[in-house]
Amino acid sequence: MNKFALLNGVPMSPAPELKATLTLPQTAFPMKANLPQNEPLRLARWASLRLYEELRKACQGRPVYLLHDGPPYANGPIHLGHALNKGLKDFVVKSKTMAGYDAPYVPGYDCHGLPIEIKVDEKLGHKKLTMPVPEVLEACRAYAQKYVDLQTEQFERIGCFGRWQTPYKTMARSYEARTLEGFYGFLEKGFVYRGLKPVYWCIHDRTALAEAEVEYENHTSPSIYVRYRLTSDPAAIAPALAGRDVSTIIWTTTPWTLPASMAVAFHPDFEYVAIEDEGDPKAPVYIVAAELAGQVAAACKLGPIKELARFKGAALDRVTFQHPFLDRTILGVLATYVTADTGTGAVHTAPSHGADDFYTGQKYGIDPTSRVDAGGHIHVDPAAWDQSQPPAFDGMKVFAANPVIVAMLEERGALLGGAQLEHSYPHCWRCHHPVIFRATEQWFISLETPVKRADGSETTFRQLSIEEIDKVVWDPAWGKERITNMIATRPDWCISRQRIWGVPIAVFLCESCSQPIIDTDLNRKIVDLFEREGAEAWHLPASDGLLAVGTKCGHCGGTGFRKETDILDVWFDSGVSWLAVCESDPDLSAAYKGFEARDGRNGAREVLYLEGGDQHRGWFHSSLLTSVALRGRAPYSHVATAGWTLDEQGRAMSKSLGNGVDPVDIANRMGGEIVRLWVASVDFREDMAASENLMQRCAELYKKLRNTFRFLLGNLHGFDPARDRIAEADLLPLDRYMLARTRELTEKIIGPDGKTGWYGAFEFHRVYQAVNEFAIVDLSAFYLDVLKDRMYTFAPSSLARRSAQTVLWQITEALVRLVAPILTFTADEIWEQLPPVAGREISVHLARFPKAEEIFSENPTKLLEEWKELLMIRDHALRTLERAREAKVIGKGLEAELKLSASGKYLSLLQRHEADLKEFTNVSRVTVSEFSEQDAFVQTTEVARFGFVMGFGPDSGQLSNVRIEALPASGAKCARCWNFMPDTADYGIWHDVCGRCRSALQEMGIAPPKPEGAQ
Ligand SMILES: [Zn+2]
Ligand SMILES: [Zn+2]
Ligand SMILES: [Zn+2]
Repeated sequence: MNKFALLNGVPMSPAPELKATLTLPQTAFPMKANLPQNEPLRLARWASLRLYEELRKACQGRPVYLLHDGPPYANGPIHLGHALNKGLKDFVVKSKTMAGYDAPYVPGYDCHGLPIEIKVDEKLGHKKLTMPVPEVLEACRAYAQKYVDLQTEQFERIGCFGRWQTPYKTMARSYEARTLEGFYGFLEKGFVYRGLKPVYWCIHDRTALAEAEVEYENHTSPSIYVRYRLTSDPAAIAPALAGRDVSTIIWTTTPWTLPASMAVAFHPDFEYVAIEDEGDPKAPVYIVAAELAGQVAAACKLGPIKELARFKGAALDRVTFQHPFLDRTILGVLATYVTADTGTGAVHTAPSHGADDFYTGQKYGIDPTSRVDAGGHIHVDPAAWDQSQPPAFDGMKVFAANPVIVAMLEERGALLGGAQLEHSYPHCWRCHHPVIFRATEQWFISLETPVKRADGSETTFRQLSIEEIDKVVWDPAWGKERITNMIATRPDWCISRQRIWGVPIAVFLCESCSQPIIDTDLNRKIVDLFEREGAEAWHLPASDGLLAVGTKCGHCGGTGFRKETDILDVWFDSGVSWLAVCESDPDLSAAYKGFEARDGRNGAREVLYLEGGDQHRGWFHSSLLTSVALRGRAPYSHVATAGWTLDEQGRAMSKSLGNGVDPVDIANRMGGEIVRLWVASVDFREDMAASENLMQRCAELYKKLRNTFRFLLGNLHGFDPARDRIAEADLLPLDRYMLARTRELTEKIIGPDGKTGWYGAFEFHRVYQAVNEFAIVDLSAFYLDVLKDRMYTFAPSSLARRSAQTVLWQITEALVRLVAPILTFTADEIWEQLPPVAGREISVHLARFPKAEEIFSENPTKLLEEWKELLMIRDHALRTLERAREAKVIGKGLEAELKLSASGKYLSLLQRHEADLKEFTNVSRVTVSEFSEQDAFVQTTEVARFGFVMGFGPDSGQLSNVRIEALPASGAKCARCWNFMPDTADYGIWHDVCGRCRSALQEMGIAPPKPEGAQ
């Protein structure tokens, strides 16, 4: 039996010879998708068609919509977050293309940086030590390229369109040259300085870390109270202290920083007290913040205390103390960041190991030199240690030195209290070891650099960046406040890293004064060198020759120079992608320059960045800073952010929990289309749940959608739009209604202008929900079901059947385009099965979205309102039928008929649609009459005779004065269409064929068959 006959549960099986005269659905579109096998074949077809190139040709001359790809890091296979990211971008690119834009998409890869360098280090082992730098870089390049190729294959596998043959790579020679050019731009415009500064430093990886590379984890530190003895005149602080042995107490959790202790900071406005052990005039006196005195006394186990004097912190400015174990004078300094919630109110200050300390030190002219080396070993300051034996901590690693230093303090009577403290402490994001602050020579971009606005007025780099944020659309809106706060409070951007896998800060430094040579001609030559030979060239002796013989330092006149070997922060690399790609790639540059010039005629109207929400401190951030500095404006007009992919319990996906969902595995088992359907199903602005279970649900839903399309295509068999299409005015009312619904759906999805709506607002989950509902409820459960009688039994070319086919065709043509951005493979498969049309594009992806008014020319509102009421009556009728069936008053489907009576507006509504009611209630006949008082009476007295009656009296609300009776169908059952008809008769040897079927057979040219042997 043909599967279609049972598709929606209604059997259609007349006698075999009559059955052959039915027009059943027929299509080559298979029910079983076999996505894992068929998707790769379709990808191969697209490749052979050069579909991406064809799209570019087809889009020439259209307004440009530019989605600039944020480059994923090329160090592993893709995970679900990548699939979500690229899936969303593909929805944007495809929907913009179908909406009439030219939306080129050049995917990118972030290739430099520590994670790859570490992997390569592990692989090379000791060999690395003897290898020339360019060879190590070559190994890094090969490593990154391996994952560029893998990820490209995986992104293409899930149907993402783009220029995958030639993606951009931050390690490409031309990209490295542009990155360096971007750095020189900063350098030449005066944004860059070199300075000693404490930066986050990983002693394990021996590198400076950016703020973005630091994570907070719990760590146990010693928590100690240390006595610093006052060496200046105590009476100068308060007369009551004259002649007393006065100290202050500092609190620290990093004893290893005490060898670098240079000052003690007090808050100028806090109240400080001098306390002593009660009743002992010889006892030492301690200065601490008044608010913390009780706490400190308890922690240091002082006896009952007595306040000897009270004064403002300002009184302690420039007093002096003795370092607890070094031969060093410690200065009392003032600072407003001192707090009164923990500690003592007297803050140990090591300018080489803390940002606040550093700035305070600068104010007081204190030397910030660090005596902790790159590997974290402490070296004693020779100026503060004159003994022949070095101290015990000398040469030790910082964390190992802690107990040694605590012991030293105890030995000297300087330790007043101690405990262990578990607290949140910065750790390296890669190796997860605790990090330290360490003053090192670094390259910085100053956020306070003076810059000019477009109108010529003066401001700072920081301020202009904030002003540019305001001109961008942030989606969701909280992104704006988030990035504004980050820019407003961030310290200067430390752009140097002490590694090799990246773009070198290719600058010659004076041997004697360490100042860089800033020479634009020289810089241009180095950029050209990078362009030709890659960043490796900087590490070869040949590049020394770039510096002209006889060059002198502009600062000190020195003649010896060395090459800087630090590399740029990888955020700088990806942050200049607007320069290296949008401005420089021949496929994008014209559009992007138009965007920059705000020239909407030739350039991009919009430049969209769409990434995860963590990029406010990553790529969105670095891209903004580089573009504002070098071009005076934000590089984007629209920034959209996605949430995180979590499991169904809201937990992050991890190997140890085993709750990960691998998109490649899903594509191989269920289909790339299922991954895409999942991406469309989630509201990406929130955190999103994913699991095997949810993927299965998407696969189930896919089956339903596919079956709906199969049924649509099956019923288009034999329909030639050019020949058979019925004019809109001549369509049957039910068919007109479905077109109105299709127009309504289309307008929601793409807006009345075809460019807005849900696709325009990136509300893909709404497209997903609405399409599902339309396919499952409106089509499968309603329209396609009630059409069966017409589609199967009417003469194929009858007006009524052609009317339905016209509408089924228009619905399919509209839907296939509306789902194409999401169901990228299946829509193209459907496309190939649609009735041929002259000039049809070779792929659905070359087609445009439907035009709402071409689907249905009228404003659909009034028609939809009317049908809403009709369908409400239908719901009641179906329920009445159901109850009558349960009461065994009527049999199945067509064995029933309905008598409707109504008054007022319902009467005229039902009368207008009397001819259509039979079809969409699936009974053999419907009659409509005027509702009278007697009818109300019938409801209670004549139930037995009429069958089941569901009445709605004058008081029953909305459906007042509509009465529905279900009763057994009169007439006889037609052997062909199974309708109960009053006019069944013989058609040749076929018995019980209704008049409608007889004329259909005649129209089909099937003459009444004669008995065998008859002439
Ligand atoms: Zn580390
Ligand atoms: Zn110099
Ligand atoms: Zn019939």
